[in-house]
Amino acid sequence: MPLNWRNFTLPELPEVETTRLGIEPLVTGRALESIKVRNAALRWPVEIPPDLRGQTLAGVTRRAKYLLAHFETGVLLIHLGMSGNLRVVSSTQPYLKHDHVELTFAGDRALRLNDPRRFGSVLWSETNADGHWLLDRLGPEPLDDEFDGDYLKRQARHRRVAVKTLLMDSHIVVGVGNIYANEALFLAGVRPGVRASRVTLAAYQRIALAIKGVLQRAIEMGGTTLRDFVKQDGNPGYFKQSLNVYGREGLPCRVCGAPLTGTRLANRATVYCKNCQKTQGFAQQPVLKS
Ligand SMILES: [Zn+2]
Repeated sequence: MPLNWRNFTLPELPEVETTRLGIEPLVTGRALESIKVRNAALRWPVEIPPDLRGQTLAGVTRRAKYLLAHFETGVLLIHLGMSGNLRVVSSTQPYLKHDHVELTFAGDRALRLNDPRRFGSVLWSETNADGHWLLDRLGPEPLDDEFDGDYLKRQARHRRVAVKTLLMDSHIVVGVGNIYANEALFLAGVRPGVRASRVTLAAYQRIALAIKGVLQRAIEMGGTTLRDFVKQDGNPGYFKQSLNVYGREGLPCRVCGAPLTGTRLANRATVYCKNCQKTQGFAQQPVLKS
């Protein structure tokens, strides 16, 4: 049975982007009518200035895994942590357990942050959020044009870390979580443990394309879950996508049939195919049978 994203509830970049696409049209252009903080003890104490009331939400953008809600006097930075989700419901709906923050907009649109593990955050920035201490040192967005093989090759010069560890470093590129790093390296035919400085430019070009591909596919699949953002009991934003390697240690490779190898790199679960993923040369890239 193929594994799917519902086994992994950690919101990754595609889940955050799908959340953005789901809530933005429901609340943008509306005045904020009330603020309710039911539990301020998230990863950091919740920061919402009282004078946000009455302001109109100009739009919701995303940087890395932060949703940025743009108001007249600044930006609210919302992070879903390890277990958070956002829903838009009627304010008359009873609260769910773990509904910590509610922003109610004109037209009875209540935006609720639910987060059982409370690793999420709601923080305030009076200036452009790019300068916020959480965002100012982040690498480029993986789906932007500036992120490509040439960029990765330049960043990898003299780096002794494994290529998989490099890809997961948010100073190099944001939003490449453990699952996506495993999957992209399989699709690119590169062994995760190879020292980053030894990976060729051609291989980095394949890696960059594979990262964009797996993220884009997940975002597109998330589109089918958008209606869940207005359902009280919805668990929005976590997608089905069959995985080639992650969680499949010991199972047959979908390309060559050999059992997949499991290991740990930088203390993160790592799975690869010894046949299809090379440590040098990188002449071939596995071709998936569809
Ligand atoms: Zn294989």
